[in-house]
Amino acid sequence: MKTVSILIPAYNEEESLTHLFTRLANLANKLKDYEFEFLFVNDGSKDKTLDIIQDYAEKDSRVAYINLSRNFGKEIAMIAGLDHVKGDATVIIDADLQDPPELIPKMLHFWEEGFDDVYAKRETRDGETWLKQFTSKMYYRTLQSVTHIPIQEDTGDFRLLDRRVVEALKEFRESQRNTKAMFSWVGFHKKEILYNRDPRVAGETHWNYRKLINLAVDGITSFTTAPLRVATVAGMLVSVFAFIYLIYTVLSALLVGSSADGYPSMMAVILFLGGVQLLSLGIIGEYVGRIFNETKQRPLYLIEEYHGGKPSRRSASKTRPKA
Ligand code: UDP
Ligand code: MG
Repeated sequence: MKTVSILIPAYNEEESLTHLFTRLANLANKLKDYEFEFLFVNDGSKDKTLDIIQDYAEKDSRVAYINLSRNFGKEIAMIAGLDHVKGDATVIIDADLQDPPELIPKMLHFWEEGFDDVYAKRETRDGETWLKQFTSKMYYRTLQSVTHIPIQEDTGDFRLLDRRVVEALKEFRESQRNTKAMFSWVGFHKKEILYNRDPRVAGETHWNYRKLINLAVDGITSFTTAPLRVATVAGMLVSVFAFIYLIYTVLSALLVGSSADGYPSMMAVILFLGGVQLLSLGIIGEYVGRIFNETKQRPLYLIEEYHGGKPSRRSASKTRPKA
């Protein structure tokens, strides 16, 4: 019998967990052909999330959990989970039920047909402001145009991954992670299914614009060096103009005779060049910062407790040999 792992990163989700668990358990009871593992990753929640999970784990042997030593963020919580899932396939799902678990049978269906990465694409996003929808759209567009890998638009982390995709993702040990772009990078056979994104059942979103901007900058800087190229091109263009202007000033001084005016244009040039230089330095700094962070080679996360539920043996059938 094939094992399917459901990976649930959870941060302060005490209100959502009961709803989620009931829906997942109902679903799993209907899908008799598979063995299930529910792997919760408690990402340093400050509420009762861990207690609730531990409670489930006591009553239900399908429940496994990882308790991280503090809040590491969803991206890290996901890799912690991927490192520990036992299933032949893994479904990553949000704890707040914005991703309907009822889509899982459909994902399994396509997995059985041979697809490795069955991802859910949002058709609508109820309960999100137009500003969030707009920024998210612009972000995908930008990421798409500067990286050379096809990025799936309007797609979150809600997806089913075959064992071999999980094994591939486990080899990505970078600390500033953009999992969405990694899903695209690894390739394999992808299948898209459409769904309506529901509003959260309870609690509040943990994202704010500061976090989203960080994620966006990480997403771009971790997958492309195109901004460095922008700095180069801008520098070249500005130099060309500066050179032309230099010739113009020298010639006009020689032919017409110099005068003291020209202060506004001088200021404009100095300020403009200063701006371009700062921008370029900033871009270089982004990359130097990334190099700094990655060279520290810290562990991605620390685990306070791991409880491994019932399907105790990882089925080796589909596991890729280690290189
Ligand atoms: N999450 C997490 N760590 C965090 C923030 C969020 O594990 O630091 C989890 C959260 O519990 C939820 C999922 O990531 O299961 C998505 O978070 P959220 O619903 O806040 O994001 P949104 O759906 O608004 O993008
Ligand atoms: Mg959510």
